[in-house]
Amino acid sequence: MAFLELDNLRKEFGDLVAVDGVSLTVEEGQFVTIVGPSGCGKSTILRSITGLETPTSGEIRLEGRDITELPPYRRNIGLVFQDYALFPHKTVFENVAFGLKMRGAPEAEQRERVTEMLEMVNLEGYEEKYPGECSGGEQQRIAVARAIAFDPDLVLMDEPLSNLDKNLRTSIRSELRRIQAETGVTTLYVTHNQNEALSLGDKLAVMNDGRLEQYDTPEDTYREPRTRFVADFLGRST
Ligand code: ADP
Ligand code: MG
Repeated sequence: MAFLELDNLRKEFGDLVAVDGVSLTVEEGQFVTIVGPSGCGKSTILRSITGLETPTSGEIRLEGRDITELPPYRRNIGLVFQDYALFPHKTVFENVAFGLKMRGAPEAEQRERVTEMLEMVNLEGYEEKYPGECSGGEQQRIAVARAIAFDPDLVLMDEPLSNLDKNLRTSIRSELRRIQAETGVTTLYVTHNQNEALSLGDKLAVMNDGRLEQYDTPEDTYREPRTRFVADFLGRST
């Protein structure tokens, strides 16, 4: 049994088919990257896994359990989005502790865990700062700490580096790989950037127009693209 299974997932918005029968499995501890052009359905897949969208048909199973109809708050999933989405009026401590507090963790445990998480993302001592006092890169690392702090089953990242400049993107990208390896948290990472797709992750899902074109290791996908689209999309330089 796979850790996460998408089984023939389909999502329609009126006449538009955003996700057109996607099936894929993710093993526990894997880092899976989903890549494809803008509008191909990547975010809709992540939003379906979080429960922010209800699929038109198909199933989402986590550790064999159907979670397709579970409300978002009943799913133990950490999220990181492009636009940081930290709570601006809460301190860094309150932001990172949020998921722990929601789950009733005692204050001492919150303190300990937040300190550990901030060390992990190289932001020791940032507890009492506000997001507005932190740079874009720092805010995104805080968002990563917040997504992992409460020990989620899954972490979903939707283009988390798109708003950062190129150098920062490269350094945070390698930091993300390190953090994922250290914590072993199962991660789905969405990007439209071919370089990111080929350099991050154990497996790569290439999407086009709501469909999954290929699902292999990044190396195999690059070496042996299964469709014309995959060959063209990954061959194109960015
Ligand atoms: P991606 O993340 O790959 O850029 P999305 O999953 O955001 O793609 O969108 C897939 C398609 O579904 C797009 O055509 C988009 O316009 C459409 N779409 C996404 N969300 C909605 C919505 N809430 N209502 C209507 N159409 C939507
Ligand atoms: Mg998107």
